[in-house]
Amino acid sequence: SITVLRIGHRPFRDKRITTHVSLVARAFGADRIVIDEKDELLEENINNVVSRFGGDFKINSGVNWKKYFRDFNGIRLNLSMYGINVDDKIEEIREKTKNRDMIVLVGAEKVPIDAYLIADYNIAIANQPHSEVSALAIFLDRYFNGKELHKNFNGKLNIVPMEHGKMVKYIPDEKEALQILYDNNASDRIIRHVKKVY
Ligand code: SAM
Repeated sequence: SITVLRIGHRPFRDKRITTHVSLVARAFGADRIVIDEKDELLEENINNVVSRFGGDFKINSGVNWKKYFRDFNGIRLNLSMYGINVDDKIEEIREKTKNRDMIVLVGAEKVPIDAYLIADYNIAIANQPHSEVSALAIFLDRYFNGKELHKNFNGKLNIVPMEHGKMVKYIPDEKEALQILYDNNASDRIIRHVKKVY
């Protein structure tokens, strides 16, 4: 499995960026995100996306990152512009994680030196400064060779791809399907719920 470890999160300043790191982790094939600072609102938002769009993605905040990273039973990666170019290491990482879990650390502002020392791999997505959102997306995309873009999340909300316009198909869960069977107004309620997506 793949865990993303987001460190340096400041609930007020980084709300949007950490939300994006979490959404990228989920959409690009990671299994969970762990965040150092406790942020219940962020957990709620991401859990809400998972309950509507599907998948088994988990979020957990308020962890001692150093201990978590050090004690992680698997391959530890730190994404950093100071690291080794991803292209020089990705095959080795894929090989090493065939039967092992992987944790991918991304920072916010200055990342403490311990992250670089604990990591088995310090990996750069180009040796140029950019963003934790792009670094994570490109790393996961390289790791999965692009296959993650075709993952089926089995969600209630399913986007129907179209050239122009927006369409979302709603697939009720078992409980809602029963509600629709027995209650004439239930489907109206669900359709209203879909409209909230826009
Ligand atoms: N200046 C900070 C430092 O020296 O530790 C990093 C700040 S950067 C805005 C935040 C995070 O984005 C980094 O911790 C790293 O995870 C990720 N990042 C930014 N550029 C990257 C790159 N070229 N390769 C890999 N990760 C990168």
